[in-house]
Amino acid sequence: MSDCLFCNIVKGHIPAKRLFESESVLAFLDIDPKAPSHVLVIPKVHLANVIELSKYAPSLSFELMDAIGSIASTLNLTSGFRIVSNTGDDGGQTVHHLHFHILGGRPMGWPPG
Ligand code: AMP
Ligand code: ZN
Repeated sequence: MSDCLFCNIVKGHIPAKRLFESESVLAFLDIDPKAPSHVLVIPKVHLANVIELSKYAPSLSFELMDAIGSIASTLNLTSGFRIVSNTGDDGGQTVHHLHFHILGGRPMGWPPG
């Protein structure tokens, strides 16, 4: 999708601080961090959200979770972290290319806002 922000990050048209990359997954620092560690993990292919992931590319789920585990280890988030995938308007999704937030480096509150 040519007008998708994260597709443009994948293509290198928009800069990002890349932490992890494989054939199908990319992870980069969130531009507006909400925690000391705030990384976005995305599939390189455009999928809008987790519903599309499960419908069209379920095997990518494994690769995304595998990347999340590796990144959490690399960032040394040994005391814990949170994974979030905001979905749709009520979920607070602002970029409609599937992404998992990894948030760590401080205790997280519950329930979320
Ligand atoms: P969400 O609101 O869950 O859709 O998350 C979108 C995230 O993308 C937000 O946390 C933004 O700070 C982040 N974001 C927006 N633009 C960029 C960018 N150019 N590079 C890195 N992260 C971005
Ligand atoms: Zn996209």
